[in-house]
Amino acid sequence: MGITNAAEIVTLDKDTGKYLTSKCQIINLENNGLAEAQKTIAILKSTLKPLLPAAGLAAPQIGISQRIFLFSWDRTEQHQIGVINPSFTPVNDERELGWEGCFSIMLGDGPYQLANIPRYKKIKVTYINEQGQSVTQILEGFSAKVFQHEYDHIEGIANVHRKDAEIKTFGSKEAISTFMKEVKAKDKVNYIAPYSTQ
Ligand SMILES: [Zn+2]
Repeated sequence: MGITNAAEIVTLDKDTGKYLTSKCQIINLENNGLAEAQKTIAILKSTLKPLLPAAGLAAPQIGISQRIFLFSWDRTEQHQIGVINPSFTPVNDERELGWEGCFSIMLGDGPYQLANIPRYKKIKVTYINEQGQSVTQILEGFSAKVFQHEYDHIEGIANVHRKDAEIKTFGSKEAISTFMKEVKAKDKVNYIAPYSTQ
C-alpha cells in the first residue's frame, strides 16, 4: 500500500456538492467493493490525523457519499475503528444531553455553532469492519454518542440541523475551542471501550 493522501474536509457553509445533506448509499461489498471501502477508510484516517485527538469523521465529510465512517471511543488514533454499512438500535430509551462539535462546522467560516443533543446512552451496533467481517458490539457513553453523530452524517443530517438540537452560536473559532475544551474534559468520564454482546 502506498501513502494515502488526506482529503479536504467539506464544510456546511461551502457544501456545493450537498454531501452533508444527502443520504449515502449502502456499499456493495461484492467484487471490488471491500477494496474501495478500505481506500475510503484510509483517506479518512489520513485526513483526521492532523486533527487528533478526534472522535470521528464520516465519508460524506470528505466528499465521498458512502456509508462509511471512523469513530474512536476515547478520541485516540489507537482506538479508531473504521465501519462500513453500519446500523444501530438503542438498548433502552435512556438518553443523555451533550454538546457536540463537528469538523464540518468548526473548520468552516461560520456560523460557529455547537449542538446540544439528546443521544441514546447505550446502543447495539452492527457494521462491517475494515477486514470485511461482520461485527456486533454494545457501545455506551461517549462512543455511543459519536456513533450516532457519525451515523447522522451518512443519513445526510448535520447535528445543527436536527430538530431536537439546541444550538449555541459563538463569535469565533477560538470561542468554540475554549467551550469545547470543557466539553472534552467532561466526555472523558464516559470513555468506555466497545464490548461484545455475549
Ligand atoms: Zn460531524
